[in-house]
Amino acid sequence: MCFQKKSFPEKDPEKNFCDTRFCLQSWLLDAFFPAKCLTCGRAGDFLCETHRQFPPAPQNEAQFQHLDEIFAATEYYDPVVKKSVEFFKFRGFSALAKIFAETIVERVPDNFLENAILVPIPLHWTRKLWRGFNQADVLARAILENRTRDLDPGFELKFDLKRVRRTHQQARLGKSARKKNLDDAFFWCGENLAGKKIVLVDDVVASGSTLDAAAAVLKKSGAKAVHAVVFARGGKTKEPGFDQSNTDSKSSSA
Ligand SMILES: [Zn+2]
Repeated sequence: MCFQKKSFPEKDPEKNFCDTRFCLQSWLLDAFFPAKCLTCGRAGDFLCETHRQFPPAPQNEAQFQHLDEIFAATEYYDPVVKKSVEFFKFRGFSALAKIFAETIVERVPDNFLENAILVPIPLHWTRKLWRGFNQADVLARAILENRTRDLDPGFELKFDLKRVRRTHQQARLGKSARKKNLDDAFFWCGENLAGKKIVLVDDVVASGSTLDAAAAVLKKSGAKAVHAVVFARGGKTKEPGFDQSNTDSKSSSA
């Protein structure tokens, strides 16, 4: 995230990435912390060509009450994926969003993003203030930038979904408490969505209950279809107790 522009990141998505030719921050970072692969240390980018060959996402047949479909680009428990997400989310390596977005756009079915409004899953404002950015916003912007380079000019990004209530970590709750925890957590403050197709964006999904709660609000505001696109899918099968808010345990369960 650009230090100079993080103070107004939601006003104009077109202008959120620095022009590196003139950015002192980028120049200093490159000079003192040159990009190298988080896994093998090869210079050039935060993931080299080899280590950005992420595995496919695990199959998931979960049915949701409001959300129509989730597309995940890869599997959260792959060690490189997990490390990348942690660096992206908790250590400020926002440049990884470009690599995540490339993988998503390459793998997502053609019609999934067509004529859609991208809506990042918001953080509660207190959490966002604490961390300085919302990882879903950064990822959604990177998808928009990647996708609009060659495809739909009509593709757009809206930040009008708000998290109006702080929620507890989903992983620590039972099923009914989990639902109650998310009730009324979101609020749509944008235009009427009648007939619109929405694609929610987040970095990681596990149970999908957070995405489903957001989908409920968007459908109440008229949305015809609500899909979700995430970089990595986790789940309970490999690490009991894991939940979306668990990867968010320091973050987006807010
Ligand atoms: Zn590498």
